[in-house]
Amino acid sequence: MQQRQPVTDLGHGIVCLDTGYIRSGLACFYLIEGGGEYAVVECGTRYSVAQLNDYMAEHGISPEAVRYVIPTHVHLDHAGGAGVMMAQFPQAQLVVHGNGARHLIDPTKLAAGARAVYGDARFDELYGEIVPVDAARVVSPADGEVLLLGDRPLQFFDTPGHANHHFCLWDERSRSWFSGDVFGLRYPEFAATDGQLDYLITTTTPVQFDPAKLIASVELLAANNPAQILLTHYGAVSDVARCAALLCEQINDHCAIAERHAALPAGAERCAAIEAELLSYFAGQIADQRPDLDGAALLPLLAMDINLNAQGLDVWLARRG
Ligand SMILES: [Zn+2]
Repeated sequence: MQQRQPVTDLGHGIVCLDTGYIRSGLACFYLIEGGGEYAVVECGTRYSVAQLNDYMAEHGISPEAVRYVIPTHVHLDHAGGAGVMMAQFPQAQLVVHGNGARHLIDPTKLAAGARAVYGDARFDELYGEIVPVDAARVVSPADGEVLLLGDRPLQFFDTPGHANHHFCLWDERSRSWFSGDVFGLRYPEFAATDGQLDYLITTTTPVQFDPAKLIASVELLAANNPAQILLTHYGAVSDVARCAALLCEQINDHCAIAERHAALPAGAERCAAIEAELLSYFAGQIADQRPDLDGAALLPLLAMDINLNAQGLDVWLARRG
């Protein structure tokens, strides 16, 4: 029996549901209603889909009412459950970036890439079998294209930098972005004590991190005066301008840290050196934001993301030559 995960009604017909990925508060999906139709933003993994089904059954939402299943990009914490979800929602189309579509139609390469990052045992525990999606049910919107969810326009924008197969969705009705991984990861544990200052960390995950493109994508999201940005990891951020500046600073600092270790051989040794410096970098930022906390004791919360960031920077250095 799976543990029930938190559900937050954000108003404007948007509900945030925890996917239960690794721990509560780490990854969510969003259910959006428009004119009696539903869209699910993000798929979680195959193990997450039960959370959504339980919510829908309790609220009398039929599987046939789901019109769109929308992973923001094809990393497996966002798209791993796509095939399982599509099997349960017979009327749904899978909306995925044109650069990612083929990897969900034939997930062989995607799974192999993630196995290389996580190792086989951890991969099986986190993701399990990746179910393919029928190509006839896949649509890939162009940059700026609008899809209608009932009477509710959802607009798609290319947002590379974290991955070349990443888009963000703009929901005019709530003036919200669904930002996938572009607008960083939110750590409520490190938010300022008045709850007003969120703490985010950027994500430089392998293998397509591109700092200039990621900064441009962050700036695109901040530019149209959104009421909020809805992060997959995790929840709503309304302090957009300050958080955008923090993320851009972190992206530049990540590159500077990586460059200090560029002369080391690519791989485990260089990753470890970058990771150690990132740990002290984040310890410093967290101490500035929350001097009341024992930052060192809380750093293990960030450990997985810092490790992925270090791996992504090592790959970036190698690709850049
Ligand atoms: Zn993610």
